[in-house]
Amino acid sequence: MSPTAKEPMVRFDGVTKRYGALTVLDNLNLEIGRGEKVAIIGPSGSGKTTVLRMLMTLERIDGGVIWVDGEPLTHVQRGGGMAPADPKHLRRVRAKIGMVFQHFNLFPHMNALANCMEAPVTVLGIPKREAEERAAGLLDMVGLADKKGHYPSQLSGGQQQRVAIARALAMRPKVMLFDEVTSALDPELCGEVLQVIRKLGSEHDLTMLMVTHQMGFAKEFADRVCFFYQGKICEQGEPQQLFTVPSNDRTRQFLRAVLDSV
Ligand code: ADP
Ligand code: MG
Repeated sequence: MSPTAKEPMVRFDGVTKRYGALTVLDNLNLEIGRGEKVAIIGPSGSGKTTVLRMLMTLERIDGGVIWVDGEPLTHVQRGGGMAPADPKHLRRVRAKIGMVFQHFNLFPHMNALANCMEAPVTVLGIPKREAEERAAGLLDMVGLADKKGHYPSQLSGGQQQRVAIARALAMRPKVMLFDEVTSALDPELCGEVLQVIRKLGSEHDLTMLMVTHQMGFAKEFADRVCFFYQGKICEQGEPQQLFTVPSNDRTRQFLRAVLDSV
């Protein structure tokens, strides 16, 4: 066993994020185990997307440390203390993480195959032929073997989102982040995307962190659900318990509101 094998895959250690006077993450502590599937739920504005964006190092945090795979992501250990990480360190550790967004964000001028080859070639320096094989294999995996030459504008929302998942996987991440990946889709297209996520969960040893409004999917898929409220985890637990006997009033209110709306 490697020295890091017992460490959680992701750890937020007292993480704070502010935008001006607004504290969006408030001294957040969150550990995610290796291979664990965690669903994040909570009202709009509670900081769910911010958690994922901080992990992707899309922005800097204002306090605390984020750890990934046993080492600090946001910092480097130096002389017994912690110093803010430089861009090179951020890039190296961040390479372990892949993210899929609500609005796909595919490169519009590239076909599905090229979308999945771009980062492996330019960021990892993988030879084109190898990147193409990898991309083709992943597009097969998400059920798009016959759409490799299609451009995003020629694909349905569900197909585009499956390309986005394949594109993130092409970097061979250890952690996958999903931010409301079915929210922009027509209801009949959600199923095909959720099916891909289910398959990933059962066939791969990926650690997965997903923000979702689909309580049914969270209940069935996640090992743990975290309910966010005002930048903190207000309640967390196994889905069965959190969804059926939430212990916190705010969780109860939120669940009542979302479940009533469907
Ligand atoms: P959620 O995903 O739970 O809906 P977010 O994490 O996107 O919430 O946002 C949390 C809060 O932070 C919101 O009040 C939002 O308006 C604010 N926020 C997010 N990004 C920015 C930004 N770049 N500048 C200013 N405020 C932001
Ligand atoms: Mg959000």
